[in-house]
Amino acid sequence: MKIGFIGLGNMGAPMAANLAKAGHEVTGFDMAPVEVAGVTRAASAAEAARGADVVVTMLPNGQILRAVAAEVIPAMTAGAALVDCSTVDVDSARAVAAEAEAAGLLAVDAPVSGGIGGAAAGTLTFMAGGSEAAFDKAKPLFDIMGQKAVHCGDAGAGQAAKICNNMILGVTMIATCEAFALADKLGLDRQKMFDVVSTSSGYSWTMNAYCPAPGVGPQSPADNGYKPGFAAELMLKDLRLSQQAAGSADADTPMGQLAEALYAQFVENEDGKGMDFSAMLPRFEKRGRE
Ligand code: NAD
Repeated sequence: MKIGFIGLGNMGAPMAANLAKAGHEVTGFDMAPVEVAGVTRAASAAEAARGADVVVTMLPNGQILRAVAAEVIPAMTAGAALVDCSTVDVDSARAVAAEAEAAGLLAVDAPVSGGIGGAAAGTLTFMAGGSEAAFDKAKPLFDIMGQKAVHCGDAGAGQAAKICNNMILGVTMIATCEAFALADKLGLDRQKMFDVVSTSSGYSWTMNAYCPAPGVGPQSPADNGYKPGFAAELMLKDLRLSQQAAGSADADTPMGQLAEALYAQFVENEDGKGMDFSAMLPRFEKRGRE
């Protein structure tokens, strides 16, 4: 396939490289002067999109996605697909899909989980929203860049699945960290805490697979000085998107709201920026009850 790839950052560059390595003809564009192995550089987003069967975008936020979409949609050929893999707000995802469809294009919102490691290894999970035809067109590319693609529903459903998952993740990480900090103060050994909780009803992915306590459980960013991994500011971004969506859908999400406030405090007023999101544990460790 002829593929245009826009947004060659930490995630986009390895994803585009994997598409090229699999034999696709990839033309890429980024505002920053980046070179990606096997990817031809275009002078603009529109140039990267012109004549492409599929245009993939991997951009920082919904506002930038809307601006890029306004530029690439008129350059694309009817029947081609616009596949956005960025994490953006549900409203932007739906607006871009509507514009693309009005221009005779197929559209998929397909945010990912798996992080930079997953992007490089081609083991991402894609959560996709859009028509059956759009998903089918993008699926062979998902199979190269990832190991699993779930078609979640119509436009916006991929973003909805992503932010709901990450709202659970943020809330659960906080719960796991505050419980470890309480256990410390009660004189409970962390390894014993792990042994019990990881096989009891308090178990979760954050405890069992990504334990925030150094030296306990499987290898995780906690064992590497809390270097990300999944940075606290990216968790904050996703929690904000979840609360923005909850606001527009009139959903009551008190735990998500509190998780957003705690990560905002951690990232903006404490030392959380640049740390893994599991560094909530040392944060709680240092604090007392106010
Ligand atoms: P990044 O900042 O490394 O990459 C974004 C790229 O977009 C940059 O290279 C930037 O120059 C480029 N860009 C910005 N505006 C542009 C424009 N108008 N035209 C062309 N290029 C433009 O970010 P990233 O870590 O690659 O993340 C990309 C998306 O993936 C985000 O939405 C993020 O939330 C999501 N995501 C990231 C991770 C992760 O672990 N990094 C995991 C899952 C999802």
